Amino acid sequence: MTENKNTHTILAVDDSPENLDLIKNILEPYYTVKVAVQSNLALHIATTQLPDLILLDIMLDDMDGYEICHQLKSSDKTRNIPIIFLTAKRSEEDEVHGFRIGGSDYITKPFSPSIVLARVRTQIQLKTKSDLLEKLASLDGLTEIPNRRAFDAALERQWNQSKRTGMPLSLLIADIDAFKQYNDYYGHPMGDECLKSVAGALQKLTHRPEDLVARMGGEEFAILLPNTDSIGAMLRAEQYREAVENLKIPHTKHNPNTFVTISAGAATLQAHAHDDVANLLKAADDALYQAKNQGRNRVCGNNL
Ligand code: GH3
Ligand code: MG
Ligand code: MG
Repeated sequence: MTENKNTHTILAVDDSPENLDLIKNILEPYYTVKVAVQSNLALHIATTQLPDLILLDIMLDDMDGYEICHQLKSSDKTRNIPIIFLTAKRSEEDEVHGFRIGGSDYITKPFSPSIVLARVRTQIQLKTKSDLLEKLASLDGLTEIPNRRAFDAALERQWNQSKRTGMPLSLLIADIDAFKQYNDYYGHPMGDECLKSVAGALQKLTHRPEDLVARMGGEEFAILLPNTDSIGAMLRAEQYREAVENLKIPHTKHNPNTFVTISAGAATLQAHAHDDVANLLKAADDALYQAKNQGRNRVCGNNL
């Protein structure tokens, strides 16, 4: 794997501007380099720009590098950014401590430019591969939209956020109507194409960055709508239903509808500390069950 210049960003943190210049000279031909001479700026750049790697001095003026590392490793957002300590602290205990708190490598000063470059390269390659694996592990293989694993993670994240902010959290569960008949009549490969089209239509309608559409399994999809109340959730559910109907995928075996349709259940929870997120899933499922019972190709809601 080779790196093209500027595709990866490295943050170098050191209280000596001379050291930072030196590091810049070594890395700039290959990477985009950001620098910080103090810890607050370092933490700010790390959390807002999410660099691919951080080169971190330990002895800084305001906060030590171990503490910066600790803070970055405690946050979901920045946990996966590899950190290489680049430090004048040469003792065995210091080095072991650096690894113990989550450092990926440890280089002592004075350093050799070619060794810094080689070790940076190794960490960037590992990061690139782990990012790719992470992405693949969260996508559904057939439809290439987020899978259940990604949904579970997003639900937990949004649930916690909702508890903090007190904003409502809505969930839709949508299920293709009479999909068994579709498979039986048109065959499994056409069934797979149908799933891809439906997933694409749901995805296309999802604009807000915090909203998430996932394939839960089979012909069931979940749509997570943070900061959305029950009226908004019902409106959105109806739009999703309509979008699938408008695909006009023939399903002549299914009476009375001649096209592939979905039924959807909507549920909204105003988060309170005592609530259980399982209630939200159950309420959306119950609403879906009602929509199916009332004749399919419709949406039902459940306000908790
Ligand atoms: P309902 O309207 O009540 O939802 O009925 P249904 O036929 O859609 O529901 P049922 O659960 O009886 O059938 C779901 C079908 O979905 C059965 C299964 O073969 C099919 N299915 C599940 N996963 C896949 C898949 O990955 N590809 C294809 N082609 N079919 C799938
Ligand atoms: Mg179904
Ligand atoms: Mg089903």
